[in-house]
Amino acid sequence: MTQLRPLAIAPRLERLRSRFEEAGIDALLVTNLVNVRYLTGFTGSAGTLLVTLDAAILATDGRYRTQSAEQVAQAGLADVVTIVIGGQGEQRDALVEGARLAARVGLEATALSWAEATRWEELLARTPIACVDLVEVLREIKDAGEIDRMRKAASIADAALEAVVPMLAATGTTPVTEAAFALALDTAMRRLGAEALAFETIVAAGENSAKPHHHPTDRIISPGEPVIIDFGAMYEGYRSDMTRTLVAGTEPNEAVQAMLDLIKASQAAGVAAVRPGVSAGSIDDVCRSIIADAGMAERFEHSTGHGVGLDIHEAPWVAAKAETILEAGTIITVEPGVYVAGVGGVRIEDTLVVTKDGAEALTQFTKDVAA
Ligand code: ZN
Ligand code: ZN
Repeated sequence: MTQLRPLAIAPRLERLRSRFEEAGIDALLVTNLVNVRYLTGFTGSAGTLLVTLDAAILATDGRYRTQSAEQVAQAGLADVVTIVIGGQGEQRDALVEGARLAARVGLEATALSWAEATRWEELLARTPIACVDLVEVLREIKDAGEIDRMRKAASIADAALEAVVPMLAATGTTPVTEAAFALALDTAMRRLGAEALAFETIVAAGENSAKPHHHPTDRIISPGEPVIIDFGAMYEGYRSDMTRTLVAGTEPNEAVQAMLDLIKASQAAGVAAVRPGVSAGSIDDVCRSIIADAGMAERFEHSTGHGVGLDIHEAPWVAAKAETILEAGTIITVEPGVYVAGVGGVRIEDTLVVTKDGAEALTQFTKDVAA
């Protein structure tokens, strides 16, 4: 792959501030570490970012003295973000002092425990404002650098599955278990350059495929049964997400074949409907109505998809009635599935980036089911 385009981190603080007025705040205390990373480039495991209208303070501990300075500088924010290194008390003092002139301080309501929120209220000596998704909404639209990293993660996952699919094809003669196949897939992703797994790999064979989030076991995969493989790679913090339902060796039975045909059609229709200007809910509608028309509405018990990026599941949510309007640069999954207890299930999922007139699938592995 050619050089990845750079991440445009520096402008994000200003975009966040432009949302302050509507949120009714003069400052935001960012405690969600993924949001701290998004806004500053800092990837440490501990840290808090205070963003006021004219300043930004990143507080972390001594383990991250060098790293925080390097990453903030690399993001082009060396003159913008003040870094405070110290123990918990020193960090808190610096943040409280930094927020002194802000009458209304927002906290990230979904990223704090009750105890932490109460503590901040005492320290700030005023009632904080509960804020939801202020940074998450910014993260919905990816910049060119983010899209490049996600395309890279997806291509690693594609190549990894390609590398291990022969194990599945051979399971009739050399039996492979769900767990062994998952391990081989995970290892292939790491060898091919993934810094980590995007999430815990799902390999679900036969009747286990009727459980959407099955954990791989020592069950041997038999020829002819559906195998749901749901997995992804992480590259420079960005994740991919793909599901394929494969059938090893012989043809599947009629019931499984019918589910495969149905989900293939539903997923393809959902993908074809992704374009700027449509609501996330309309994509759910397209996938769900095809499944409902086949009389299997009650077998599709999860939402159609979700945003992906620095988190594996993030806004926007591709669910019934979801009102978010898709825009160029939004990245979502489309992953309808049907599951029949005792029989099996089928799910097919791609990660897609909305383009100016449609969508590009970042995950490219074939949807032909024969392994
Ligand atoms: Zn998935
Ligand atoms: Zn997914």
